[in-house]
Amino acid sequence: MNDLSKLAIHTITTKPWNLETAIKKYAEMGIHHITIWRQFLENRDLKKIRKTINDKDMHIVSLCRGGFFTHPQREKREAAINDNERAIDQAAQLKAQLVVLVCGSHPDQSLNKSREQIKEGIERILPLAEDKNVRLGIEPLHPMYADSRSAINTLKQANDICQEIESKYLGIVIDVYHLWWDTQLEDEIRRCGAMENIFAFHISDWITPTTDLLNDRGLMGEGCIPIRQIKTWVEEAGFSGTHEVEIFSNRYWQTDQDKFLELIIKSYQDHCF
Ligand code: ZN
Repeated sequence: MNDLSKLAIHTITTKPWNLETAIKKYAEMGIHHITIWRQFLENRDLKKIRKTINDKDMHIVSLCRGGFFTHPQREKREAAINDNERAIDQAAQLKAQLVVLVCGSHPDQSLNKSREQIKEGIERILPLAEDKNVRLGIEPLHPMYADSRSAINTLKQANDICQEIESKYLGIVIDVYHLWWDTQLEDEIRRCGAMENIFAFHISDWITPTTDLLNDRGLMGEGCIPIRQIKTWVEEAGFSGTHEVEIFSNRYWQTDQDKFLELIIKSYQDHCF
């Protein structure tokens, strides 16, 4: 049996469970790392959540997510800055050391324009992140989301931005679902590692045919992503953090979540070592 000491789960993966249930169930199965999606924090007392996390000996890997810096209207971009500052503040209160950035894109403007706005947005929020000791991780998204979710679609683009901005508080989240197809992936992972910028590692699988561009991800081993290979590259590049299971799946959300959690553990043990 492969051990679970580096296994982390995103709360969105078991979306039908509220935060307390997720924390309790993960802990019962011997999983002690969690990434919290911000919708699970709405109208909640963060101190109480922090206490529950402590009581269950849970470690928060990151808060998901900030970003969405892009918009043709300045007021909307300002609103995004405010929201990102709130995310950093929430992370600091929860003692989460990383906020994941889904950077944004807007179909009414060019990708280059969106990329400029992303860079500006990150530069605006970095001082607060440094002040609160919270790191920011750019997550490059698969190009199928380039219209409206992210104009950062390759690890190279993310590496380039990190190199331009150059802050030890800015790094990258490598998600196999978004990056597995890229012929430059191995080289860019090495480059990312050399800059000490691999902040997090997300796993799931790509099912064929995919029936929903957002909510039809598979369990590890169900699809065509060479997860083991990518994990090896990431670890050879110096990453020693957790392996975060992030599966959006209408199919699995409709099933018994206890059984789903057992399947996650089994697929992790069978396909990630
Ligand atoms: Zn991800």
